[in-house]
Amino acid sequence: MFESLQERLGSILNGLTGRGALSEADVSAALREVRRALLEADVALEVVRSFTDKVREKAVGAAVLKSIKPGQMVVKIVHDELVDMLGAEGVAIDLNAPAPVVVMMVGLQGSGKTTTSAKIAKRLTERQNKKVLMASLDTRRPAAQEQLRQLGEQVKVATLPIIAGQNPVDIARRAVQAAKLGGHDVVILDTAGRTHVDEPLMVEMADIKKVSSPHEILLVADSLTGQDAVNLAKSFDERVGITGLVLTRMDGDGRGGAALSVRAVTGKPIKVIGTGEKMDGLEEFHPKRIADRILGMGDIVSLVEKAAETIDAEQAASMAKKIQSGKFDLNDLAAQLQQMSKMGGMGGIMGMMPGMGKMKDQLAAAGFDDKMFRRQLAIISSMTKAERANPDILKHSRKKRIAAGSGTDAAEINKLLKMHRGMADMMKAMGGKGKGSGLMRGMM
Ligand code: GDP
Repeated sequence: MFESLQERLGSILNGLTGRGALSEADVSAALREVRRALLEADVALEVVRSFTDKVREKAVGAAVLKSIKPGQMVVKIVHDELVDMLGAEGVAIDLNAPAPVVVMMVGLQGSGKTTTSAKIAKRLTERQNKKVLMASLDTRRPAAQEQLRQLGEQVKVATLPIIAGQNPVDIARRAVQAAKLGGHDVVILDTAGRTHVDEPLMVEMADIKKVSSPHEILLVADSLTGQDAVNLAKSFDERVGITGLVLTRMDGDGRGGAALSVRAVTGKPIKVIGTGEKMDGLEEFHPKRIADRILGMGDIVSLVEKAAETIDAEQAASMAKKIQSGKFDLNDLAAQLQQMSKMGGMGGIMGMMPGMGKMKDQLAAAGFDDKMFRRQLAIISSMTKAERANPDILKHSRKKRIAAGSGTDAAEINKLLKMHRGMADMMKAMGGKGKGSGLMRGMM
């Protein structure tokens, strides 16, 4: 799985991790290669674009932590964006509904529906102790019903007795009835496929859905078909409505384009993946684990996570000290802004702090909101060390230079300085009364 991408990303990022300093040009060059690697892995263009944009934005704005190298930071950023693209949290098949819970499997012929139905049934029986009934609604392909019956025997899961000549909708109805009578927890409906999406197929799926009220409708798609699988998911979702996907043949998919783009394009989670012809060739889809596997740099990722944790604690302590002594310069403001955006922006932070409503109002009145974080940070990073430590020296010509450097204007810089002054004054007052540090610790 993902071998080709793994190899490409590995060599691109390895080229960065050993280096001491990284310029914006280094990052851009690496991202151009990342972009190419993703496109070669058959990831949807729109997904590639938004991925590289987000990585660039974060890589350029990221403060590099003392104990790690800039390239390692980039690895972490790429990793986190990969996880995000894959869907952040793993989403399991949901059985949280009154029994019998109906799981409807849909997809094209040969995608692996029947095999996957049996794999899922086996797993639910063995690992979750569920009583499962499977039914094949495939009356088109000769022997399809018999195939499911045999698989059922193999995995020791009950299948609905076959009645020759019965139509799919009636079979579905009978399956739900039988499950109710038999006290089954779950009914898996293995529907018929076609070689391509057509109107009769969609009508049939809609009719089955109507009579069986499935709690899950899982599209089974062959990962080897790449972007076709993504488009298939889109059309099935529009016509029938799907709750998630199963990508099969991931064992043979070195590129991973479907797996990498389907969530971002359709918004539907990949719930499980097929990793072999055998009945235990099924895995849950965990975005973080997959991202780790693709990058193969889990050690660097955890290194950066640890460094970030310690730096957060160090920063909080030194900030508390500064506030108590009444010193709060623009470096501190930049650190604060970075912390704030990490913590869900203004709303997130103010919500955690009792009595901070007034400050929030003041900041809002000064025109300060979440969207401005990045511009504010850009302004501060365009300043010299001396300017950050002592904003009073910022006169007209310096402001002009900073505005040009940060792509903003003098008015915006003045706004930032005003906000900083307000915060510094307030913190001085709080620090003077000796109760600032506790409050600020809450803020960081
Ligand atoms: P259906 O027409 O959608 O029901 O497809 P089947 O379940 O009959 O599967 C078609 C073929 O794909 C069978 O030979 C399966 O063994 C194979 N298959 C299904 N899932 C996987 C998988 O995850 N990996 C591999 N390698 N083969 C699979």
